[in-house]
Amino acid sequence: MTSSVRKYQNFTEWFDELLFSAEILDNRYPVKGFAVYKSWGWRIIKRIIDMIEGELEAAGHEPVLFPVVIPEDAFSKEAEHIKGFHSEVFWITHAGDRALGRRMLLRPTSETAMYPLFAYWIRSHADLPLRIFQSVPVYRCETKATRPLLRMREFLWNEAHTAHKDWDDAERQVREAVKIYETVFDRLGLSYLILKRPDFDKFAGAVYSLAFDAWNPDGRVNQIGTVHNLGENFAKAFEITYEDVDGSHKNVVQTCYGLGLSRTLAAIIAQHGDDHGLVLPPEIAPIQVVVVPIPYKGFEEDVKEYSRQIYERIRKSGLRVHLDEKEIQPGEKFYYWERFGVPVRVEVGPRDLKEGSVTLSRRDTLERMVVKSDEMVPSILKLFEDISRNLKERSQAALKSMIIDVEDLKNLRIVIKERKIARISWCERVECAERIKEYSEGEVRGHLFNIDEKPDRPCIACGGEAKRVVYVARAY
Ligand SMILES: [Zn+2]
Repeated sequence: MTSSVRKYQNFTEWFDELLFSAEILDNRYPVKGFAVYKSWGWRIIKRIIDMIEGELEAAGHEPVLFPVVIPEDAFSKEAEHIKGFHSEVFWITHAGDRALGRRMLLRPTSETAMYPLFAYWIRSHADLPLRIFQSVPVYRCETKATRPLLRMREFLWNEAHTAHKDWDDAERQVREAVKIYETVFDRLGLSYLILKRPDFDKFAGAVYSLAFDAWNPDGRVNQIGTVHNLGENFAKAFEITYEDVDGSHKNVVQTCYGLGLSRTLAAIIAQHGDDHGLVLPPEIAPIQVVVVPIPYKGFEEDVKEYSRQIYERIRKSGLRVHLDEKEIQPGEKFYYWERFGVPVRVEVGPRDLKEGSVTLSRRDTLERMVVKSDEMVPSILKLFEDISRNLKERSQAALKSMIIDVEDLKNLRIVIKERKIARISWCERVECAERIKEYSEGEVRGHLFNIDEKPDRPCIACGGEAKRVVYVARAY
């Protein structure tokens, strides 16, 4: 087994160092909350984009691209929405020295950019359901301390927006959106809780909000995706109506959902990484296999030639493979590619040359095995499966061990301080959630969406009758 002591004991330092040394992101861009994605990080994100967009298209969603600017009058139409986002908005007010007649803002999310157009696009029941998505950066002037990938003022996400003929169809869409996100996160080996947020914490303008909270080694959960049922709130504000079969005119019912691409990458790094560096699921690794020749005195040329044959054979099988022929010690190459999380290393030495074999080393456990070169590609594919399964199981076990049942405020404070997620009983009153936060620094994140947990204890804060079993944690 590999060690992940540093990641648990000093997450922030471990994470920031790794973002830099594995060329994920450079945080020295001279604007707070804005960062540069470097090649390795960007190549991983592009694969996550392909994954989510592929799943959305397979489920009937269509790609679009809306402008980054939203006019003030459109943004101001839905009262709750503007209240929720107003303090975080970046405004565009001038062209040169000339004040613009109509102020614009950078999208903090795209409801108010898209829905005026929905009113044009949707005419009759035959236009429904409408399902679109885009993968874009959004802008929120976060007042809390910014953190690379986890809390940025410019961050990347995929957002989907849908319109439906009635509440039932919107509810069906919510369940489908949850399924799509589960599929993507499961393919990435991530573990998370799917929570229905308390009313006071729902998306501004939504009827209710669901969220995927991924665990993090420092105990602060990382919201990687959200799904909202918007009801008719935006349809009323933007007059999005349709003519039904019987000729009557009705408001559409809408949903929207967002998957944080920067935060999903953060979760992959945080959940799977260890003290040697990144550990990447094979499906999204920019390089899946690295071939490292181990030259031996008198056999340098032969080993080189054999390594090239091995490389060609893997390349032709369609895997993303790199042959590392740099003039440095093999051991240095091992450390280097381990830091970048390449799932499988193929070592080619003089003994392998003599026996027609190679040595495979898997990144997640660092275990090694010798296989015949004829069996190499199937063995690598089998290792990919084993690695994916192991990452998922490891992550699930970590999440399970982080959740602690707590019965009183004093213990809640201790559990949150110990970087765990607390499961408590709550009466659903805002005052009690505030008291919980004040006392423990943990936030009431919500109750499980997919499992009905019945409270068997009184509210942890007031001792009154509890309505829900909820999860409490610090959060990014
Ligand atoms: Zn209470």
